Amino acid sequence: MSKARLFDLSLFVAAVGLALFTHPSVVLDGTYIKAMLLYWVFASFYFQLRIVTRKGNSTIDYAISYTSSFGIFAGPLGTLIYEIFYRTTVYFYKKKTKTADPGELLDTFYNIGSFTLGGTAAYYLYTLLYPVAAHVPAGYWLLFLLVVCVTTFLSSGFLVITFALSGDIKTRKEAFDLLLRSRNLLDFSKVALTNALLLRLLQLEKWEMLIALFLLNYIVSLSFFSKSQSAQHKFERDKFEQMAYQDFLTGTFNRAHMDKRMNELDHSGESIGIVVADIDRFKKINDTYNHAVGDKVIIHFANILKDHLQEEDILFRSGGEEFTLFLRSKSFRECHLILQETLLDVERQAVKADYEDQQIEVHYSASFGLFYFKADQNTSMEKGYVRADQLLLESKKLGRNRLSAHNALAE
Ligand code: GH3
Ligand code: MG
Ligand code: MG
Repeated sequence: MSKARLFDLSLFVAAVGLALFTHPSVVLDGTYIKAMLLYWVFASFYFQLRIVTRKGNSTIDYAISYTSSFGIFAGPLGTLIYEIFYRTTVYFYKKKTKTADPGELLDTFYNIGSFTLGGTAAYYLYTLLYPVAAHVPAGYWLLFLLVVCVTTFLSSGFLVITFALSGDIKTRKEAFDLLLRSRNLLDFSKVALTNALLLRLLQLEKWEMLIALFLLNYIVSLSFFSKSQSAQHKFERDKFEQMAYQDFLTGTFNRAHMDKRMNELDHSGESIGIVVADIDRFKKINDTYNHAVGDKVIIHFANILKDHLQEEDILFRSGGEEFTLFLRSKSFRECHLILQETLLDVERQAVKADYEDQQIEVHYSASFGLFYFKADQNTSMEKGYVRADQLLLESKKLGRNRLSAHNALAE
């Protein structure tokens, strides 16, 4: 058996030893059974809201812990019986839902041991300090904060030891992170207040209030849980959508996004300049050098286009070295001017690239077609795009490195 597993079992043995051979004056009567059943029901409900993180081959559950109030109320033996009862339920639940780890049975022994020791520590700490705390203003509540800190660090400490022994954590930093993760004053206060109230209600045998407090805790957590889940889903959806619509080489939108935007702008009545831009004799660049240099030229061209865009404009990579722009909220003259400046920029600048262990400079040019029109019943976006593409072809035929433009609104 591995050292980690020996440690896990020794926790269990220590917990059983303490429970059986120390003699706290707690009576395990009908009140105890009532309380145990209540805790068991609510802890089991709560179990579904746990936050699970993975560490190496093991999973860690971060459910809110009721250990300290029950530990103080029931003493070491009462806690042991409760923990056996509750952890066995969790074990069978995990088996049934097929979420059990391979070593789930030993984990269950570990959990019983670790949490019983936590409850035992809470019991002795409370018994020892309550006579003092009772004379201090708010002493009872502060004492609980201390008890919760101690029990939490105790169980985190056990976790660190078993993970260090199993090799799931290797550095001090990892150990420290595990010890401190999601442990902040807010968490401590939440657990401390809940447990302090629970114990008071247990001692007074206010069962209805006890159930109400459990329910309140559960409902509040459930609402946060579902909110954070839907936020997570939205985040994933947004990310997925972004990935689906992005061109990875240039960071511009892709053809799929262009189709979406064309549909949106169809019949909108907006005056738009659709531009199709294509690098001249690009095949030659690929052939003279290689695809990597070709890619650099494409990225460079995309960046120049981006530099001339305004916020309302949209740029798409519509083909290999062909880009489409939707210029919006502009007159025909403004569109024309922007493209002429872009043409000049492309001509003036050179792309620096590595080729056969040398820094090379690649000069290139590009051709443009601009069709300016109103996206309404008469002219669809698709038609506008075809017209812009025809104008690009005209630029190519006329010798490239130029802009051919048509203003349909001046007809
Ligand atoms: P023209 O002036 O008439 O546009 O000539 P061209 O050589 O640019 O003509 P064409 O559009 O036929 O050539 C495009 C080439 O771009 C063909 C294809 O191999 C290459 N290409 C397409 N996508 C990529 C890419 O992502 N990276 C690289 N390096 N090349 C690409
Ligand atoms: Mg080309
Ligand atoms: Mg092309």
